[in-house]
Amino acid sequence: MNSVGVTLFSLVVLGWCFYLVAKGFRSANGPKTHICPNCRSIVNPVRVTPGSTFLEVLLWLCFLLPGILYTAYCQANKRRVCPVCGAQNPVPLTTPAGQALAQPR
Ligand SMILES: [Zn+2]
Repeated sequence: MNSVGVTLFSLVVLGWCFYLVAKGFRSANGPKTHICPNCRSIVNPVRVTPGSTFLEVLLWLCFLLPGILYTAYCQANKRRVCPVCGAQNPVPLTTPAGQALAQPR
């Protein structure tokens, strides 16, 4: 790769990193978009990946296929949870169900 290619590649990688950091900052500090049906907190849901990182690394090191299957399982079962209580499936505030939950009891 020549120096122009290295420079372009570095810019793309740097831009991608900046995008990820900005996206994370925005979702953590942006307006709250969901309400938790369990604790009724108004939150931005966080994505949680099930499984163990240790087990995933171990399976990747043993054989390739179990690692691939375990990683696919974990990625396919990512879910959104309430950052306050950990309940699954916070309800968007823009839906009728979310509006009903947001009403004071
Ligand atoms: Zn909650």
